[in-house]
Amino acid sequence: MTYLADRLEHFQESVIREMTRKAMENDAINLSQGMPDFSPPDELTQRITEALKEEEHQYTVTYGNFELREKISEKLASFNRITADPENEITVTCGASEAIASSILALTNPSDEVLILEPWYENYVPITLLSQGKPIFVSLLSDNFSLNEEAIKEEITDKTKMIIINTPHNPTGKVFSSTELNLISDICQDQDLIALTDEIYEYIIYDDEKHISLGSISGMEDRTITVSGFSKTFSITGWRLGYVAAEKELMAGVRKVHDYLTVCAPSILQKAVMESFKLQQTYFDNLKERYNTNRNFLLKELKELGFNSFKPSGAYYLFVDISSFGLKDKEFADFLVNNKGVAIVPGTSFYQRRENQPNQGEIYVRFSYSQKLDTLREAIKRIKDRL
Ligand code: GLN
Repeated sequence: MTYLADRLEHFQESVIREMTRKAMENDAINLSQGMPDFSPPDELTQRITEALKEEEHQYTVTYGNFELREKISEKLASFNRITADPENEITVTCGASEAIASSILALTNPSDEVLILEPWYENYVPITLLSQGKPIFVSLLSDNFSLNEEAIKEEITDKTKMIIINTPHNPTGKVFSSTELNLISDICQDQDLIALTDEIYEYIIYDDEKHISLGSISGMEDRTITVSGFSKTFSITGWRLGYVAAEKELMAGVRKVHDYLTVCAPSILQKAVMESFKLQQTYFDNLKERYNTNRNFLLKELKELGFNSFKPSGAYYLFVDISSFGLKDKEFADFLVNNKGVAIVPGTSFYQRRENQPNQGEIYVRFSYSQKLDTLREAIKRIKDRL
C-alpha cells in the first residue's frame, strides 16, 4: 500500500537535476543542468544589499511588484513586440518553470491533449500529467529539428487544447523561423488552439538568427501565453524569477493557480532584478559573444573527439550524437560522470518511451556550455586525458 497519489506513477524526477546531484557526489564538472558558474552583473547583486536595508522582507502583491511588471511590459513591447498590460496581463512567477506549471494547470481539463514537440524540455510532460492532461508527442525532423507540418496536423483531434513551443529550443538550440512560427499560428487559429511559448533563452542567439515571439504574430495576441524570465539572461537561475504574459481572461486563470502554488516570487529579488532594465546593449552583446565563443569551442573539440552535434542557433546546449561511440546515452553519461568527472544529460530524458521501439534519444547526450570557457577547457581536458 502506498500513500502516494496515483498521478505520480507516470513520471520520474528530473534527470537534469539528478545529474547535478551526481556531479556533486563525484566532484565532477557540471555540464548537465543549464546554469552559469560565473557571477551575475554587479548592479543586480549590489541592489540586494540596498533592498535589505529597505526592509523588503514581506510578500509582494501576488502578481508581482507593480513597477517590475511595468518594466516587463515595456520590454515585451520593445523586444518581443507584444502588448501586455502590467495590471492584468503580466504575472511575475518563481522562475519560468512555475510560469509554465501555472499556465498548464490553469488551462488543462482531464483528457485535454497538449501537443509537445519532441525532443522537449523535461518539465512540460510531468506538468501536463499533473494537470491530468494528455501529452501528445510530435517529432521534430531528425536531421535539423525543424517543424514537421504533416506530423503536427496528424495529431490534432477535437481534444487538442494547446501546443507548447520553445524557441530558442532546449535541448537542441534550434531557433524557430518566421515560416515555422507562422505555420504554428495558422494551425492555432484554424483549430482554435492555445499556444504556450517558452522563450527563456530569447537573448541567447547566434549568427544572423532573430528571435521571434509567437505572440507577436497577427491573430495570436489572445491565444498565446508567453513565458520568459531573468534566469538565463542575467545568470541568476537560483533567484527563481520568471514571468508570464497573456490576454486578461487567460491570465486570470493563470493567476489563480500561481496564487495558490507560490503566492509570490521573492520580494527582495524582484526589487534587485529591476536593475537589469538599466543595463546597456553592450551587456546583451557580451552575453551572446561569451556563449558564441563557448559554442564554437565545444563544437570543435567534440568534433575532434569524433562527436557530431547539431549546430545550435540559440540557447546554450549542444545536442551531441554519440552513436559512433558504442554506448547508449545513459551508459555514456554514467561513464563520463564516474570515470571522467564530467556530468552531462542523457538524451532519453528529452524523448518519450515507446513500447517495442528503441528510444530515439539513446543516440544523444546534452552538453551545457553555460559555464566559463576555462570550465569547458577543463572538461574537455578531463575527457581527453582519461579516454
Ligand atoms: N533549463 C535548465 C536545463 O535544461 C534547467 C532548469 C531547471 O532546472 N529549472 O538544464
